[in-house]
Amino acid sequence: MGIVSLEPMLLKAYKNGYAVGQFNINNLEWTKAVLQTAQELNSPVILGVSEGAAKYMTGFKVVADMVKAMVNSMKITVPVALHLDHGTYEGAKLAIEAGFSSIMFDGSHYPIQENIEKTTELVALTRKLGLSIEAEVGAIGGEEDGVIGGGEVADPKECKMIADLGVTILAAGIGNIHGKYPANWKGLNFEVLQEVNRITKGVPLVLHGGTGIPDEMVKKSISMGVSKINVNTECQLVFAAAVRKYIEAGLDLQGKGFDPRKLLAPGVEAIKKSVKEKMELFGSVNQA
Ligand SMILES: [Zn+2]
Repeated sequence: MGIVSLEPMLLKAYKNGYAVGQFNINNLEWTKAVLQTAQELNSPVILGVSEGAAKYMTGFKVVADMVKAMVNSMKITVPVALHLDHGTYEGAKLAIEAGFSSIMFDGSHYPIQENIEKTTELVALTRKLGLSIEAEVGAIGGEEDGVIGGGEVADPKECKMIADLGVTILAAGIGNIHGKYPANWKGLNFEVLQEVNRITKGVPLVLHGGTGIPDEMVKKSISMGVSKINVNTECQLVFAAAVRKYIEAGLDLQGKGFDPRKLLAPGVEAIKKSVKEKMELFGSVNQA
């Protein structure tokens, strides 16, 4: 069925009280692991690609062509969106040209007026092409691809201004952080989330930094309009741990254990397990 926009997928999730996971991909193994799991669990899925990851894979076009070809060759029938994660204004246009089905424009570091102007332009472009667009208000904490956010809590009034531009989904900073959460983390700010959901009613919300947020907080956020949850670091951690275990056990030195298809297999299995757990937690299983 090819790749699809986030709009029908997330409006359905918003209405029915579950969330769809965005899993960031880095290479073929990552993509295959996430697609396989989504198909096995009959869950919709969002493949997230940062500009850095696209550059690593030698360009947006390579990523878009690979994902489309894999959806086809793997006979994937669940809805799959290919979404640019934390796109710049220029990067968003390039990803669209290359064939992505969805973009995030992260204008959170611009003054609100400039964020509004650029978001307005990209909303018009994506609407014309039948694609979806995520906008961000209030920087997400931590570092992602060199972009360091201060972990601000979004101003609900600014969220309303951006939501009213016609964005498909809105990411609002509510104390969430990219990467590992520090021991003294204060938790998600549910008062702000509730207020944002109240005044942007009808627009699905996005929770970034899904690694390490306690399950109860994840569930509570879903009950308050969060319909897309981004997971990136967790898959990286479990992949690295599984491959390290394989090498530490000396398995790469036995027979043809050095074959990358064997060497990376435990990492792929670990990603699949994590993705499955997240889909179950988010409630997207059998919602394809
Ligand atoms: Zn993010």
